[in-house]
Amino acid sequence: MKRSSPVTDGHRLPLVEEFYSIQGEGCNTGKAAYFIRVGGCDICCSWCDTKYSWDAGLHPMVGIDVIASNVLAAGADSVVVTGGEPLMWDMGPLCELLRSKGIKTYLETSGAFPLTGSWDWITLSPKRGSPPLPGILPLADELKVVIQGGTDFEDAEIYKEKVKPGCQLLLQPEWSRYSEIIAEITEYVKKNPGWRVSLQAHKFMHIP
Ligand code: SF4
Repeated sequence: MKRSSPVTDGHRLPLVEEFYSIQGEGCNTGKAAYFIRVGGCDICCSWCDTKYSWDAGLHPMVGIDVIASNVLAAGADSVVVTGGEPLMWDMGPLCELLRSKGIKTYLETSGAFPLTGSWDWITLSPKRGSPPLPGILPLADELKVVIQGGTDFEDAEIYKEKVKPGCQLLLQPEWSRYSEIIAEITEYVKKNPGWRVSLQAHKFMHIP
C-alpha cells in the first residue's frame, strides 16, 4: 500500500495522552516509564484498543519541549512512545531532546512507516493489514506478535526469520480474545521455546 506521512518537522506532535505508569507488555514489563501516545494511524486493526488515537486531527499539536518538561517533572528515566503509529511523524527531534536530558527512548511501532529517531529499544509489533517495511525488521530489539487467530502463528514465524539474532520473540494474546486464545499460545510456546508469552500486565493491574 502506498501511503504518505503528514508533513511535520517533528517539533510538535499530536498528543493523544501522556502518563507515567508501568510498562505492561514485552521484555520491559514491570518497569516504570512515561508514556507518550502520539495521534495518527491508518492501519485500522479491527481489535485496536486505541481507536481514539487514529485521527491525529482530533488531538492538540504539542511542542516537544513541553513534552520533555512533563517527562522530567514526573521523575521518569525512560519514555515509551506509542500510538497510534508514531512513525507517521518525524521522531528525530523528540528523541534527540529526550536523550540530551538523559531519558531513554523506547518505541512501539508496527514498522509500516520509515524509521526516524534514535531509540534505546524498538518494539516491533507487525500488523497483518500493513506489514513492516523490510528495513526495520533487523533493528527490532523485540518482536511482539499479537495473536488473535487465523495465520498469526505462521506470520510470527515468517517475521522471526527476518529479525536480528538476539531479538526477543514474544507472542501476546489479543486482549478481547484472551480467554479463547491463551491456552493455544501457552502450548505453542512450550513446543517452540524460542518464543515467550507477553501479557498486557497493565490491564490486569487496572492501570493505564
Ligand atoms: Fe491500533 Fe496499533 Fe493497529 Fe494502529 S497499528 S490500528 S494503533 S493496534
